[in-house]
Amino acid sequence: QLARYQLRKDEPAVTKDGVRVRVEMNAGLVMDMELLREVGADGVGLFRTELQFLVGKTLPSVTEQTETYASVMDAAQGARVVFRTADIGSDKRAGYMHGPVEANPAMGWRGLRVATDREGLLRMQLRALITAANGRPLTVLLPLVTTSEEMAHAWELIDKEIARTKKVGEPIPEKLEVGAMVEIPSAAWDVRGLAKYADFLSIGGNDLAQFFYAADRESDLVSSRYDYLSRPFVSFLKRIVDEAGDLVALGYCGEQAADPLMALALIGIGYDRLSVAASAVMPLKQMVRSIDRAQLMARMDRLLKEETGIPLRQRMTQLADDLG
Ligand code: PEP
Ligand code: MG
Repeated sequence: QLARYQLRKDEPAVTKDGVRVRVEMNAGLVMDMELLREVGADGVGLFRTELQFLVGKTLPSVTEQTETYASVMDAAQGARVVFRTADIGSDKRAGYMHGPVEANPAMGWRGLRVATDREGLLRMQLRALITAANGRPLTVLLPLVTTSEEMAHAWELIDKEIARTKKVGEPIPEKLEVGAMVEIPSAAWDVRGLAKYADFLSIGGNDLAQFFYAADRESDLVSSRYDYLSRPFVSFLKRIVDEAGDLVALGYCGEQAADPLMALALIGIGYDRLSVAASAVMPLKQMVRSIDRAQLMARMDRLLKEETGIPLRQRMTQLADDLG
């Protein structure tokens, strides 16, 4: 099995009817970058920069951040890396950052909320990213966006850092793409609003499912109680891809896309950019090659509408069997 995947790992994943599906990998350490070529990923769809913030005893300096990002970009050798700015708070706590004690940290002061209140934090990180890019293209993704106003605020900080870079005579990125993570229902419901401030959107299905089901991803009692491969959640995801249409580029970086049946469902509702754990890249590319997307989309459409009461996962298992 593995050998067959490996033989074709460097080829793009194209469905039988000619649709290219980009299969990227999620990463968070410089070390992870070795895997990029090894598994044949089409880039890094999510680089969780907060890992550097979480492992240390103090806030990493701009120089330390710059070194990390430069190493990542060097290792990528031109492949696109989506740098998600530090998503701190809730399940990603930094011991040295003394935030408020909150009863519900998952819905509290975290992600972009922290970054726009502590502007220095985001500006330092943007500065490090711009310096590390040293004129190369740069892709930045903002975490836990709730409203388009927050994106507008983030853009003010981005513009200030670009202006500063020009002023000190350093190179600005040849191309700068800024994306918003869609991992809160309010953002998912406002694709058009977000699209005004984002070059692309990336679905963070881990948090989005948590908020969709009101089920704490950190709680053993409820985190896996509700199947994300369900009609309600998958049709919610479909609305996002339908709204995005040609308006804004869209990807999915939640870990659920490593589940083959979920990946099949996502492709079947129109997602064509999935970012998954490195270990899932090769099998996912191979699966893409085995499907006819038009046929899959028609069948998904029917499965989402049917009212047989049979769980979607069970129906997807049958669908996968039919497709071979
Ligand atoms: C997500 O929420 O789906 C996501 C990709 O981000 P993280 O898992 O780091 O919160
Ligand atoms: Mg998240």
